[in-house]
Amino acid sequence: MEILDTAAAVAEWRARGSGSVALVPTMGNLHAGHLALMAAAREHAERVVTSIFVNPLQFGPQEDLATYPRTFDADCAALEHAGVDAVFAPSVSEMYPQGGVSATTVNVAGITEMLCGSSRPGHFDGVATVVTKLFNIVRPDAAFFGEKDYQQLAVIRRMTADLCLGVDVRGMPIVRDPDGLALSSRNQYLKPDERRQALTLSAAIADCVDDLKQGARDFRALEARGWSQLTDAGFDPDYFEVRQANLAPAARDTTAFRVLAAGYLGRTRLIDNMGLELSA
Ligand code: AMP
Repeated sequence: MEILDTAAAVAEWRARGSGSVALVPTMGNLHAGHLALMAAAREHAERVVTSIFVNPLQFGPQEDLATYPRTFDADCAALEHAGVDAVFAPSVSEMYPQGGVSATTVNVAGITEMLCGSSRPGHFDGVATVVTKLFNIVRPDAAFFGEKDYQQLAVIRRMTADLCLGVDVRGMPIVRDPDGLALSSRNQYLKPDERRQALTLSAAIADCVDDLKQGARDFRALEARGWSQLTDAGFDPDYFEVRQANLAPAARDTTAFRVLAAGYLGRTRLIDNMGLELSA
């Protein structure tokens, strides 16, 4: 496995080989959720490249940029084991050579103004900008993202279509701990009692999905109940929403739902979501 730290080195790697290329963008601190993306990419393309970059542009001033877990050596060992061909791990100055800032940013209107976008202003601009840069540097045929960040996946799909980026964007299912908690690099911030409380996030979403399956259509009542379940468990909820799979507001005749929730346990922000497809 090659470790590349400049865009020029990636271009050279790209030119040296032939065959299709799949990119898996990450911020490192890899867990089984990330490795599932690597396995899917490995199946799909002849060459797999992962990026590891903790992107300052997508963190708010009060967020965990400085403390975000960085475990580069362990990540490389896991990637090597997963059969990844190359890791692109640029410095901040490589990605943002103009003093760490980008005068040009990518904004995907509409879809970024709800859910996580409401409470994390600028976050999705940071994501869309860095993913555009990664696509331009790597020029992948396909790129793999997790449904764990469901809104992010929707933003990237829309951006890729709007800007004709020509990348096949693939979304992969959420990988969970056996008790249901979605794997996340941020789970390690949780104290033992918070780890127990955290289970309510997936449980409340699953309850909501069950009720939708049983025919419940009072979305405001379902959302209010989910919100209460979160507060009762000690969460400071951010949102609990029933939407269509494309993130438009849910309607009585919706056949593909997505239930999404986010909240804080102490200083740790957790997100999760689940889908429900009804046969017509
Ligand atoms: P991150 O390093 O947290 O930015 O995540 C990199 C990629 O891994 C994103 O596409 C995430 O959606 C995906 N990912 C993170 N956690 C999971 C998970 N538990 N299951 C599936 N994909 C995940």
